Amino acid sequence: MRVGILALQGDVSEHLVAMRNAMGKMKIGGEVIEVKRKDELKDLDSLVIPGGESTAIGKLIAKYGIDSEIKNLAKKGIPIMGTCAGLVLVAKEGDEEVAKTGQPLLGLMDIKVKRNAFGRQRESFEADLEIGVLGKEPYHTVFIRAPAIDKTGKGVDVLARFEDKVVMARQRNLLAVAFHPELTSDSRLHEYFLGMGNEDSR
Ligand code: GLN
Repeated sequence: MRVGILALQGDVSEHLVAMRNAMGKMKIGGEVIEVKRKDELKDLDSLVIPGGESTAIGKLIAKYGIDSEIKNLAKKGIPIMGTCAGLVLVAKEGDEEVAKTGQPLLGLMDIKVKRNAFGRQRESFEADLEIGVLGKEPYHTVFIRAPAIDKTGKGVDVLARFEDKVVMARQRNLLAVAFHPELTSDSRLHEYFLGMGNEDSR
């Protein structure tokens, strides 16, 4: 298995470590690699778009000319996970803040995103959330200037909420996560993502 971490800006090395750890636990052979050029994106079995600064990552995606390559992967049914800034980028629709910055979105998932949804008082925080697809044990989450999902389209399943906000959702092969699963040692979320590649169809 060949898992790519989009390595333009942000939490790249943390995702590499977390993904290798999850693959080890699941006894999945293969490699986790940093990708940023077109040719590196071609033969992936799954892709992670990490947290960081969505405006910066968006600009670099345009600079490297890889938006169509990422869209092709999504169309082919390759699992793609966007975490935090990555969630902003996979969304079809943004809020006023996204409009203000003029940042291009990849528009892979039928969700509307609100950037920096938790406001100043809650710039960063941690919380234990119940996430059914990860099992009974609560999952410890780290939010850093996190976005939230404001609206979901028809084929989108909500997988987790924090208070009244949707913070994790899935649409077929696409997974959007508002927090940072790469910053804790609990590998369940990465394992869930890896498992998405083995499901027949949804
Ligand atoms: N607020 C950032 C953005 O919109 C995301 C923060 C993060 O990825 N930790 O790009």
